[in-house]
Amino acid sequence: CSSPAVRGRFAPTPSGRMHLGNAFAALVAWLSARAAGGEMVMRVEDLDPRAASRERAELLMDDLRWLGLDWDEGPFWQSERGELYDEAIARLGAAGLTYPCFCSRAELHAASAPHASDGTPVYAGTCRGLPADEVARRSAERPPATRLRVPDADDPAGTIEFSDLAYGPRREVLARECGDFLVRRSDGVVAYQLAVVVDDALMGVTQVVRGRDLLGSCARQIYLGGLLGHAAPQYGHVPLLAAPDGRRLSKREKDLDLGFIRGSGVPAERVVGLLASAAGLAEPGWEGRPRELLDGFSWPRLRRDDIAVDEAFLDALFSRA
Ligand code: GLU
Repeated sequence: CSSPAVRGRFAPTPSGRMHLGNAFAALVAWLSARAAGGEMVMRVEDLDPRAASRERAELLMDDLRWLGLDWDEGPFWQSERGELYDEAIARLGAAGLTYPCFCSRAELHAASAPHASDGTPVYAGTCRGLPADEVARRSAERPPATRLRVPDADDPAGTIEFSDLAYGPRREVLARECGDFLVRRSDGVVAYQLAVVVDDALMGVTQVVRGRDLLGSCARQIYLGGLLGHAAPQYGHVPLLAAPDGRRLSKREKDLDLGFIRGSGVPAERVVGLLASAAGLAEPGWEGRPRELLDGFSWPRLRRDDIAVDEAFLDALFSRA
């Protein structure tokens, strides 16, 4: 029997205009799925009301189309899928896997000494096993967050192993990397980890390609997916864009914002070409459309070091040389 075709996804958060780093991750996600004859799904991650804006989401989708990246299904809007997430959280709760957590941000930082590789504090388990009367009393004061219990460090069920398409085999012990983690915040907003797992499963996503800043979320997502009865997708993480001193570039850098880049008259072919050649997927100086890169695309070709955005890169982008 033939293996199912690859189904990838774009999952932008509309917290601002698209950044060149997001464009790069989207390009690789698209190439990886399309080179395998697969499909792409569009999902807007607008769960957090502070980051939700239809207008910004439309601009993000317009930026992707402008780059030459298309999708077959969606957009799906996470803000419209609350019932699906509630149902998953209720299932976890019914299985006794969650508990209410009353810790404030300050308490979390005071109690969570070690930090995981991605900077997530390891939850100390402060609210694990609170007696029912204590839960009732504190719930009356303020609404709790909901945390998922992870197995103890010596329980093999809490050790997650997977292989990333770019960064190879990984092994993480949940109790050491993050501890019990949130599935719902105290303001009622569903946690990113939960929503991603539910959506990737329901949308039939088989391949998750994104920036390597999210590599540290895979173990939590695989574990959560397993509890909900979903097979883990394949993961492929891509390098980030970095300043010459190694500092990670963020959405604040105006030069790297697609609104600014497009407004400066830079053609899409040049943006695609610069990203592809910096990542080892095209010859230096090449410019073109994403579909022209399909034949030569392979994961082993992709560089794993962060992409240095230096003066030369910006000069080439804005043709200032
Ligand atoms: N929405 C996240 C972002 O824009 C990506 C989440 C994911 O790919 O799992 O950074």
